[in-house]
Amino acid sequence: MFYGAIEAGGTKFVCGVGSSPDDLRTVRIPTAEPAGTIADVISFLREAGGGKLSAIGIGSFGPVCTDRQSAEWGHITSTPKTAWRNCDLAGPIGAAFGMPVGFDTDVNAAALAEARWGAARGVSDSLYLTVGTGIGGGAIASGRVVHGMSHPEMGHIRIPHDRTDDPFGGCCPYHGDCLEGLASGPAIEARWGKPADQLPMEHPAWLLEARYLALALAGFICTLAPARVILGGGVMRQRQLFPLLRSEVERLMNGYVALPEIVPPALGERAGVCGALVLAESALAESGLAHDAPYIV
Ligand code: ADP
Ligand code: ZN
Repeated sequence: MFYGAIEAGGTKFVCGVGSSPDDLRTVRIPTAEPAGTIADVISFLREAGGGKLSAIGIGSFGPVCTDRQSAEWGHITSTPKTAWRNCDLAGPIGAAFGMPVGFDTDVNAAALAEARWGAARGVSDSLYLTVGTGIGGGAIASGRVVHGMSHPEMGHIRIPHDRTDDPFGGCCPYHGDCLEGLASGPAIEARWGKPADQLPMEHPAWLLEARYLALALAGFICTLAPARVILGGGVMRQRQLFPLLRSEVERLMNGYVALPEIVPPALGERAGVCGALVLAESALAESGLAHDAPYIV
């Protein structure tokens, strides 16, 4: 089967056609205003798909509506990017091709791809967390991606924040010092007055960053019991964070339960767009047009 795959991001759309990460060919389309960007995505899929696509998957920045019963399904809902607020993303793409469309968050897509082809292959319970401009997470439980009434917003949990130790108030426009407000790339830059990628490896920023991420992970580990935790996104390019985080998680958990492996993504920056392939495949299976139901693990 040949699928269209779209990772919709705040700065760029990564679009591809293929059947697996091995043959997926991608292009980048800058995120401009919705109508033009969506039209560019449709033209790319038309041309690259060459009439051979069976379904399309979209992993999008959000929040998004993933409720198939809702009139808002496939929409980006309350993003700070005002032009994209309440924007119907899946609708026009589905209408242009008349085929099944799978739609979920970019992090759920990345979690699905890592579970299928990447660092969480072979385990039925995993967590994918991205630490970049924002923080977001996707969980796979018993082989299925976790949805609630909408989708999880793991970046916006509250974690202990000692204001004597770290007087920075946090930069989340909704919550101030939630996890994203304290530990995203922009939070690091605002706290230390320098972009995160310009801070040296031995800078105290990384110890604090590892502490905050470990506090969040300890919460997620207790809640979800993942066998593997995958940490991606721009900030995690600081590879020294991994050993710091592992020992801090171990310290916080204090021998109470078995700890998951904490690893970088195997698919790297392609996790999101590869996950869109999984979303396309699932949409096709759910539509009843395909006989082989997808299996994640
Ligand atoms: P996005 O979240 O926008 O999809 P990224 O995952 O690349 O994109 O995250 C961008 C954030 O990651 C920025 O805040 C940037 O400062 C930070 N970042 C990018 N590269 C590095 C690096 N090598 N070290 C630390 N932080 C980085
Ligand atoms: Zn928040």
